[in-house]
Amino acid sequence: LGSSSKLLVILSISSGGLVAYSESQTDAGAQSAEIKQKEPQKKRVVVLGTGWAGTSFLKDLDISSYDVKVVSPRNYFAFTPLLPSVTCGTVEARSIVEPIRNIIKKRNGEIQYWEAECVKIDAANKKIRCRSVIDNSLVGNEEFLVDYDYLVIAMGAQVNTFNTPGVNEHCHFLKEIEDAQKIRRSVIDCFERAVLPDLTDEERRRNLHFVIVGGGPTGVEFAAELHDFILEDLVKLYPMVKDLVKITVIQSGDHILNMFDERISSFAERKFGRDGIEVQTGCRVTGVSDKAMTVKVKSKGEICSVPYGMVVWSTGIVTRPVLRDFMDQIGQNKRHVLTTNEWLRVEGCDGVYALGDCAAVAQRRVMEDISTIFKTADKDNSGTLTVKEFQDVIDDILVRYPQVELYLKNKHLNDVKDLLKDPQGHERKEVDIEGFKSALRHVDSQMKSLPATAQVAAQQGAYLSSCFSRRQQCQETPEGPLRFRDSGRHHFRPFRYKHLGQFAPLGGEQAAAELPGDWVSIGHSTQWLWYSVYASKQVSWRTRFLVVSDWTRRFIFGRDSSRI
Ligand code: FAD
Repeated sequence: LGSSSKLLVILSISSGGLVAYSESQTDAGAQSAEIKQKEPQKKRVVVLGTGWAGTSFLKDLDISSYDVKVVSPRNYFAFTPLLPSVTCGTVEARSIVEPIRNIIKKRNGEIQYWEAECVKIDAANKKIRCRSVIDNSLVGNEEFLVDYDYLVIAMGAQVNTFNTPGVNEHCHFLKEIEDAQKIRRSVIDCFERAVLPDLTDEERRRNLHFVIVGGGPTGVEFAAELHDFILEDLVKLYPMVKDLVKITVIQSGDHILNMFDERISSFAERKFGRDGIEVQTGCRVTGVSDKAMTVKVKSKGEICSVPYGMVVWSTGIVTRPVLRDFMDQIGQNKRHVLTTNEWLRVEGCDGVYALGDCAAVAQRRVMEDISTIFKTADKDNSGTLTVKEFQDVIDDILVRYPQVELYLKNKHLNDVKDLLKDPQGHERKEVDIEGFKSALRHVDSQMKSLPATAQVAAQQGAYLSSCFSRRQQCQETPEGPLRFRDSGRHHFRPFRYKHLGQFAPLGGEQAAAELPGDWVSIGHSTQWLWYSVYASKQVSWRTRFLVVSDWTRRFIFGRDSSRI
């Protein structure tokens, strides 16, 4: 039964244009060739990943002209912004996931999905090698090859540990659903351990020390969630140890949430101070053992040992090994991340696109475009603009390049404000163009990279699927409908990211939001805005209903503290 079923699996897989390479290679190849002949000549699109980028690509793609296959080790889409809520049981794990097959079903089942991971991309032969991740003796670790005409890489990234010793062994990450579930169990374990008999106060204190490494949005949101969980639920259940609990956020930079507007970052620090969450800035973790971590205070060079009960490591992301290997093949080995052009195409290989966290868009034309915008506005060629003209130009630049707005807000706003004033501090009537351009020039590299967020990934997926859906149309009528064409040899306009704002929930039913147009909103009303936006952004009515009912359950009954 084992071997015949195995053959059957291989043959049925090969009917989708896939070539098995095991003992049945020849048969499967013949079958595959035969089936290929019967099929109309549709281009084969292989999508790697079912996260924000991959799912958004699949949702709107016109599948009538493509033969689409999806490979991902995760057979569901996860709504990651609510992952921190899963760590404390505010929302249940199943409420924020949507099975990929439900999404496929809505596309009339014309998309094939395989629960496997891509282990090698062979760009020269337009094939990928995949390995099934199903723990099943029938399938085992079976590997198979898939041919493609177009490859869409949307496989996200993995946690960056900076090769810090002990992190993989002793720290929790917060990247996947399983991570959030493990953290939930581990928090309860820490409390249950701390109340065991015969422990010294020192041991109880250590068990109840929760450390978060990384003061970015994920780390801060988790710290806030944990604080609420402890304050609203756990202190009532473990009153004997409530005074021994401590939460610490360790951040290597000078401030937490330093990618947000500084008003949000300082509000968060003040709020955490009031809540008793310790924020240690300017510190770097250099090693983690089973009971303590070593921390280096950057300014003094001092090294200290910090005992802990649980650590969550949330310090950013790095390229997956399979993509590093691919980057070596295509001559991108010196780059930190797989780079695409503005049309999301990986240059140097045919038919490969990359989007989401796994890729960076090289926007080489940012500074050139900005120069052109200024030149057009400076009609009399004087090198200066009136303040009104200057503001119009800035608005134009910000619409095209939201990352410039992010940069100005975070790091450079004061320099720009200075340009609008003379040395005596009076408002200028005219603004020097070169001054502004040079203020931007040395930040060119930051402006090129978009933030690694769901918003970017989803917009890239939607952009690429609209290009794919219109490709046929553009090929049939090469002059194309004008609005789809850019100047030059491209059929499509380059990808442009539209920043719609970002949230930072800070606990205690308060949140901060950075909204388009330099709006900052902080407080309880912003938390309600957060609830409405995240409920509306759910991918299906099913998950929307589940998430809203979880929030309601939490309001009425509190969070569940069982360790299951
Ligand atoms: P992912 O969503 O990570 O998807 C990658 C997919 O590739 C997965 O399906 C994975 O299984 C699959 N895959 C992995 N390896 C392979 C392989 N070898 N072969 C094939 N497939 C593979 N962003 C926001 O905008 N707002 C937020 O509030 C926000 N909050 C966040 C909170 C947390 C806790 C986290 C972790 C992230 C948050 N983000 C947020 C960031 C956001 O989740 C990411 O930017 C987004 O998930 C990137 O989408 P992606 O499709 O590139 O990658």
